[in-house]
Amino acid sequence: PPLYKQRYQFIKDLVIKYKPKKVADLGCADCTLLWMLKFCKCIEELAGLDIRENVMKEKMHRLSPLPADYLQPSERSLTVTLHHGSVAHKDPCMLGFDLVTCIELIEHLEAAELEKFPEVVFGFMAPAMVVISTPNSEFNPLLPGVTLFRHSDHKFEWDRAQFQSWAVAAATRYDYTVEFTGLGTPPPGTEDVGFCTQIGVFVRKYPKNGEIVNSEKHTEHAYKTVFKAVH
Ligand code: SAM
Repeated sequence: PPLYKQRYQFIKDLVIKYKPKKVADLGCADCTLLWMLKFCKCIEELAGLDIRENVMKEKMHRLSPLPADYLQPSERSLTVTLHHGSVAHKDPCMLGFDLVTCIELIEHLEAAELEKFPEVVFGFMAPAMVVISTPNSEFNPLLPGVTLFRHSDHKFEWDRAQFQSWAVAAATRYDYTVEFTGLGTPPPGTEDVGFCTQIGVFVRKYPKNGEIVNSEKHTEHAYKTVFKAVH
């Protein structure tokens, strides 16, 4: 399957393994990953965030309940919410999640946004698990036609050492562990370039704060809710 589908499947496999109840996808674009996760029975709350409202709205109606869902009501309740906003801003609607995914997001962030990102995701949202994927620039010479970056909207592309040192610094600062993996194996003879997509899986070291919402988390709303479906 194409790499983007492998990335979605990687998240779906993690969801099946760890059974998070609340999952947020940052930079959710046309909500394809959210739509796939809607079929995971463990999930009770799904949220998407993107800075491009129109892209997010394009296919969002896939997230609405289907007629069959009314005919065969299930035990679980599922709420799906889409927010328009930036990962550079904190909003209390992103608190209390078990898993936060950022698939091919960070390389689209401006320097000032990237600087705020760790504090927003690891410091403020502070989910039990965070998954971040981004291109591995060492693989680029194997991609036909790629000169500087894989897409013109990328602000940077990191090699493994750059991504791993950024990720380890964020993990250390916010008390997470991080492990690295990837998707898209290089052809025989070129294995040393690593995966096409590099992935960091971060796990929070400290236990959940339960109902304690400390004062710094009484933050003003910064996102606009553009869609909500209750199943
Ligand atoms: N995660 C999706 C996937 O894997 O197919 C989409 C990845 S797309 C390459 C990157 C997305 O990040 C775009 O939809 C873009 O609008 C969004 N994005 C860029 N900057 C953002 C920001 N500051 N806050 C939230 N989303 C942002």
